[in-house]
Amino acid sequence: APPPAPGTGPAGQPGAGSPAVPVDGVGGPARDGGDDPGEITMYYQPQIAIATGEVVGVEALLRWRHPRRGMVDPGELIQVAEQSAVMRLLTRRVVDDVIDQLAAWSAAGITLRAALNVSVRDLHTGEVADQIADRLSRSGVRPERLQVEITEGALMADPRRVLATISQLHRIGVGIALDDFGTGYSSLQHLRRLPLSEMKVDRSFVLGMADDPDDAAIVRSMIELAGALGLRVVAEGVEDERTWRLLHAAGCDVAQGWFHARPMPADELVAWLARYRPVRPGGPGVQVPRR
Ligand code: C2E
Ligand code: MG
Ligand code: MG
Ligand code: MG
Repeated sequence: APPPAPGTGPAGQPGAGSPAVPVDGVGGPARDGGDDPGEITMYYQPQIAIATGEVVGVEALLRWRHPRRGMVDPGELIQVAEQSAVMRLLTRRVVDDVIDQLAAWSAAGITLRAALNVSVRDLHTGEVADQIADRLSRSGVRPERLQVEITEGALMADPRRVLATISQLHRIGVGIALDDFGTGYSSLQHLRRLPLSEMKVDRSFVLGMADDPDDAAIVRSMIELAGALGLRVVAEGVEDERTWRLLHAAGCDVAQGWFHARPMPADELVAWLARYRPVRPGGPGVQVPRR
């Protein structure tokens, strides 16, 4: 009999205890109450080492709590924000929130690595790297605990400037992940030159791999490429047990997806971690706690 589906509750469920933070100059409570722009908050999704079942990190994902539409996923928001100075403000907020969260978890004895996303535009000046360096040193969070995810598309848009920014981050000890790998056209020349620590296989390939042999073949070759380049490889969008087992067989290091857990507010993550028992692909029944 198939094991119980371990997915957690519906994504975008507002959390109980974690206060949403208004964005300086973006969100914040409306003064007249008439057009409340809502607030942004961070959700965190666990990343699991496939061989051991251990939780090795989390990815911080932006959520916009809209007064009427409820919790809005970042896709739309980021696209609009990127057209203006709003993106810069959002990124500043994300950096501050995630590093503060790491400091709070540290104080509570939770030593996770957290990854945050930056957009193309953020990489065109040294500002984001300076801010990260400054916030890390003021909060006492070790740089190794932080990772920055850049998309393959961002990399190709302006390789030279992006290289300058990520080299700066690399020098201070922050890890760099290449996100959505397989959706852009990075040359292998490029990949070899960049100070990357991780490659994230785009979820479009992972979602299809249990049913589509072509997707499975593509994922396997990406895993091999990452291995050859000495990079940790993460599969995003792991929704079911079969995919997780296939990834294990292919030698993938880390899984991130609904099979283990949906993104959730920081306080829910702490409760989830307390209930979580490592599951290994070779092991017996799969038991991942429900939210
Ligand atoms: P991403 O960085 O590739 O993040 C992974 C996305 O996959 C997230 O979508 C996550 O919720 C979703 N996901 C995780 N597991 C599964 C699964 O098993 N199945 C499926 N179908 N989806 C899964 P989300 O949170 O909607 O974010 C979308 C994108 O928005 C992110 O893609 C990232 O590019 C961008 N984004 C999110 N937060 C931020 C942020 O703080 N700053 C910037 N610049 N971009 C962000
Ligand atoms: Mg990402
Ligand atoms: Mg991705
Ligand atoms: Mg993606």
